[in-house]
Amino acid sequence: MRVQEGVYWYREKGPFDANTYVIEDELTLMIDPGLRDYLKLRLEEMERDNMSMERVDIVMITHLHPDHYDAVAVLKENYDLRVALHTSQLAYLEPMIEEAARFFGMPARSRLAFCADMEIKDVLRLGDRHELQVIHTPGHSPDSICLYSPGGKFLVSGDLVFEHGVGRTDLPFGNEEELIRSIHRISLLETELLLTGHGSIIKGRAGIASNYEFIRSFYGYGDNLRQT
Ligand SMILES: [Zn+2]
Ligand SMILES: [Zn+2]
Repeated sequence: MRVQEGVYWYREKGPFDANTYVIEDELTLMIDPGLRDYLKLRLEEMERDNMSMERVDIVMITHLHPDHYDAVAVLKENYDLRVALHTSQLAYLEPMIEEAARFFGMPARSRLAFCADMEIKDVLRLGDRHELQVIHTPGHSPDSICLYSPGGKFLVSGDLVFEHGVGRTDLPFGNEEELIRSIHRISLLETELLLTGHGSIIKGRAGIASNYEFIRSFYGYGDNLRQT
């Protein structure tokens, strides 16, 4: 489903899946392809938007949890695309895949995973419209990133914040203090479209601001946020 010019959202298909996003510019980027079992459904949805995997140049993930990366290996096998990992994801590739596979009880195929073709540090330029800022936002996992487009004013937040929720920190290498600092950091960005890793996306600056407000009060992060 198209949510902004050149920005597409494919909603998660089940409890162990994640939202997928496609950003189209001179280069086309897919973020979080989700679980491989749902790949066929995703490709069908993309076709309805006149989008296809053949047009995808780069695949990224917001973090190394199988609900986000499981389909990457299959895509890499079947399409001519590059897998781009953030510096922190490269550092945590082995331990995260081992731990996450154990924690989620994923079969061994997920551990095989993939290797990176590109390393992304802090910027990924797709074209004139989207020069994405790649922001390291640890907490839910040590390798979590958010992608922000100053041009499109959208933020892909992965499992850091959701509608009325935040990412859990009880998974391997999770850290609540870091999560709070990361939420504070992204809450300062001018965002008109919040593209979350699970559940609904949030449209409109006011709705996004009140979502951060809800998170602060509900989770009691207000005092901590002021200190950081
Ligand atoms: Zn996660
Ligand atoms: Zn997730």
